[in-house]
Amino acid sequence: MGIHETHHLTPVINAAGTFTPLGVSRSAPAVARAVAEALSEFFVVDELHDVAGAAIARWSGAEAGAVTHCVAAGITLAVAAAMVGGAPERVAAFPDIAGGPDRVVLPAGHAVDYGHPILQDLRLAGAVPVLAGTDGRCTIADLEDRLDAPGTACLLLVSSRLVRGEPVDLAEAVAAVHRRGLPAIIDGAAQDLRVRALLATGADLVLVSAQKYLAAPTAGLVIGKREWVAAVRAHEKGIGRAMKPSKEAICGVLAAIEEREALDQSAWRTRQEDKVARFVARMTRLPGVAAAAIADPAGMPFPRARLTLDPDRAGMDAAALAGALRAGTPTIRVMEHALGEGHIVLELVPLHDEEIESIVARVAAVLSER
Ligand SMILES: *Cc1c(COP(=O)(O)O)cnc(C)c1O
Repeated sequence: MGIHETHHLTPVINAAGTFTPLGVSRSAPAVARAVAEALSEFFVVDELHDVAGAAIARWSGAEAGAVTHCVAAGITLAVAAAMVGGAPERVAAFPDIAGGPDRVVLPAGHAVDYGHPILQDLRLAGAVPVLAGTDGRCTIADLEDRLDAPGTACLLLVSSRLVRGEPVDLAEAVAAVHRRGLPAIIDGAAQDLRVRALLATGADLVLVSAQKYLAAPTAGLVIGKREWVAAVRAHEKGIGRAMKPSKEAICGVLAAIEEREALDQSAWRTRQEDKVARFVARMTRLPGVAAAAIADPAGMPFPRARLTLDPDRAGMDAAALAGALRAGTPTIRVMEHALGEGHIVLELVPLHDEEIESIVARVAAVLSER
């Protein structure tokens, strides 16, 4: 009997992407084996951290890497490092900062809500979030204006499809904060496939989720300059105690990095494109449905499928179809951010062929009942 039957849990077909409330991702068998093995072993945990840091650096091309409980934890710890550094007495006293810098500047459109407000991750470190520009637009001059006020600790940028407004040039923003001798942190939680591009902006720390496209157990990867990664690790002996990665998560991260390094990325990309193209071709045959492959707005290297409903011909609108898919068994979950404009967006990356077949069959059945 599977875990769902044993505990009477709802079976899920997740076409909503790396969505935390649905269990985020599917790990490869080698990752699951590494986690299972780690659970029944002892380790010198510092050694495990060092090995993982070296693997993260090798994979990303950065100077150094570290593992935290998750990216939310990584943001709090990176901000702590920017505020007080990593000296043991300052780490032990934190969040008492003895009058040190506590302002964290970010473009207003980067104050995202990824299930909770990112600003809360800053406040958890005792930092004061300072928004630059407006939701629609933040220029480098807007950022510089905020960075120049006394008590500024660092700049935080977010690379995500959740970001609002005109894009901020990340490399220019990083250069602006570096001119002031302060560090730049980029939250690229779901952007592990673009980690090298994010590091190329010159950011001191780039944070990515191990459990999103890398498909490891839940963990945050802190990647970047040696001195700043060391300062984040120093906070393991401070507030980071509440944000530590488990031994099994670190071992899972090691296995997931090996899987990624062995992956033929261009073949993978072609598979994703084919999968979406086949799905789109079948959906287009349904009455009142226009289907298309669409690119990720934040530059991730795979397409998603978008269904646009013509309510007159389909007999229902996008929200009603999403609701019907959700209500069935297994529950089928789609991306719902564009329902208001009449679109359902589906991410097919982790889905098996049979699951995609189930989606096609269910959509056809729901529309034919109308
Ligand atoms: C998922 C996500 C996070 C949080 O990552 P966790 O590892 O779940 O803490 C932070 N920022 C963005 C933009 C995200 O998409």
